[in-house]
Amino acid sequence: MLNQHTKAYWCVVNDSAIWLEAESLPYGSAIDVNLPFESAVCIGEYENRPVLWLNDEHVEQTLIYTNLRSLLLVKESLFFMISKSIQYGFMAREFRFCPQCGGRNQLNINQIAMQCNECRKLHYPRIFPSIIVAVRRGEQILLAQHQRHKGGLFTVLAGFVEVGETLEMAVEREVFEETGIKIKNIRYIGSQPWAFPSSLMMGYMADYDSGDIRIDKNELIKADWYCEDDLPELAPKGTIARTLIETTLEKIKA
Ligand SMILES: [Zn+2]
Repeated sequence: MLNQHTKAYWCVVNDSAIWLEAESLPYGSAIDVNLPFESAVCIGEYENRPVLWLNDEHVEQTLIYTNLRSLLLVKESLFFMISKSIQYGFMAREFRFCPQCGGRNQLNINQIAMQCNECRKLHYPRIFPSIIVAVRRGEQILLAQHQRHKGGLFTVLAGFVEVGETLEMAVEREVFEETGIKIKNIRYIGSQPWAFPSSLMMGYMADYDSGDIRIDKNELIKADWYCEDDLPELAPKGTIARTLIETTLEKIKA
């Protein structure tokens, strides 16, 4: 059993940000790090040690928090653990009240879910499935500038999966809705939890089939076909978007 003397890694979460020391999770017993053990929840292991999660509202000291967006390049196992604690943080804030009966929810530490004090229903953290896809046409890749990325960088297409859809249907629909392009040979590449705030990105590659680019101006500023030697500014390293772009460019070279 864990207690206040157990050495553990700590995920103290404030919205989309986390308390780090020397660019890693603080490590020590609750007494060492001066944090309230009774409010902490064990959410797994990191480097063979327990990980305790706490939301900032339980912490009295002033801590310096680092936003998840600036942690894309930390090692993957650390990124995943931080993402997980941030998503539990969202759960605790988002489900203060029961969506079913309006009763007050409380954290159930065994299930790591919120539970209604009235109807006892459990509310687990929400995960929104989203697809992201790199489309290739010969030597070129389809890249777009999105209305929601004001910085001007270019990336592949992405969107939420709708009810009643397979992932492949969502991939085809998103590409067609946003650019008017039909695609074929859709294949799964990999996934990434994306705690902004609660997505699971499922990455695909596909080939151009037919159509001319006709963008949805509500979603995109620009979309075009790019060769490796004239690439615009791309999505940052560490994102599945960048991985899909680089994998596609490598396949084109091969
Ligand atoms: Zn309820």
